[in-house]
Amino acid sequence: MSRDFRIVKSCRICKSSRLYRFLDLGSMPIANNFRKKEELGKKEPKYDLACAYCENCGLVQLSSVVNPEVMFKDYLYIPSTSKVMMNNFTSLVYQAHLDKNLDDSSVVVDIGSNDGSLLSLFKAYECRVVGIDPAENIAKVAELNGIPTETAFFDSSLAKRIRKKYGQADVVTATNVIAHIDDLYEVFKGVDNLLARDGIFITEFPYLVDLIDKLEFDTIYHEHLSYFALKPWKYIAEKCGFEICGLRRLQVHGGSIRLTHRRKSSKNPVKKTLDYFLNIEEQKKLSDKRTYKEFSQRVKDLKKSLTSLITFLKQDGNRIVGYGAAAKGNVLTNFFNIGKDKLDYIVDSTPYKQGLFTPGMHIPVYAESRLQRDMPDYALILAWNFANEIMEKQGSYKAKGGKFIIPIPEVRII
Ligand SMILES: [Zn+2]
Repeated sequence: MSRDFRIVKSCRICKSSRLYRFLDLGSMPIANNFRKKEELGKKEPKYDLACAYCENCGLVQLSSVVNPEVMFKDYLYIPSTSKVMMNNFTSLVYQAHLDKNLDDSSVVVDIGSNDGSLLSLFKAYECRVVGIDPAENIAKVAELNGIPTETAFFDSSLAKRIRKKYGQADVVTATNVIAHIDDLYEVFKGVDNLLARDGIFITEFPYLVDLIDKLEFDTIYHEHLSYFALKPWKYIAEKCGFEICGLRRLQVHGGSIRLTHRRKSSKNPVKKTLDYFLNIEEQKKLSDKRTYKEFSQRVKDLKKSLTSLITFLKQDGNRIVGYGAAAKGNVLTNFFNIGKDKLDYIVDSTPYKQGLFTPGMHIPVYAESRLQRDMPDYALILAWNFANEIMEKQGSYKAKGGKFIIPIPEVRII
């Protein structure tokens, strides 16, 4: 990789060079790279953002990879601020407990452990827990919360060191992080190094079926190198000596799947469920490149309908703000060219983001309380995966006459 950036010439799973480029979002800043006021006049790094579909194995992936050091050293996403995410983590931990009968002799390792919110739930079963996260600022938060955290990128040699230090793992988890990692073979090698012989590996990631169905194009950004369907994932898992022994669809992040793996055995325990999912993927034509061409066209149509609505509302004298300074919102505002002339500001519940400016568009981010103090006419929900939670929380904004705009999968005013 040149210092910051490399062009993807072959598929990360099957190494084929038959990559069909289908969605070009242009030159984009890093979606979580919020700017301080004093940085606004300085040059902001931007990188090409485009998607490709592997015609051989079916993996959808970015056409380029930004150096992870650029993206993850100082990271701003913290999951525990959301009730929905915590409920999801609770269900994952309970499932792991049913599978492994957790107690104080169990070791649980979480890859991409963020502020330790998932591991803190495992502590309820008195498990020994270890987090791994490269973001120094957030690893510090986890340590303060009593979660031992290795501040590093996960790879097979780190896995060996952790095994030596803490013992072999009964459960390895990786939620919403696998898509960030370029070398997936190294992930499986690391999990193999860490895991006890009968241990389980549980991972969750956004599901390509939902992304395509619900037009979630704004979840495509530099951090997310891969967009998984079951088919290519099953291929690489099996190639690396694992089998999928549990799977379910989840509501989080606009629709995800949770997969449980164990070392390959002679018979596959969930063949019927796997076939059911593979069948859905077949019906959705995920193996047909026209599906991706159509997806690009639908994104262009959405851009037209949202920007013309906003232009109309502004001409009519309305004040509009954004709700949720999510990375996906930064993709949407940059690609749709929705700047400060359209959105006065964005409110967000994450204290770390308040007082900063969004990457690219430089829209100021304020605390949520500003919405009801200020009563703008419309709030565009950029964190649309939390739309219900947000509208419930801001019920009195609506009761006083405020309106919400939900942009995805189609533009709606509520
Ligand atoms: Zn491939």
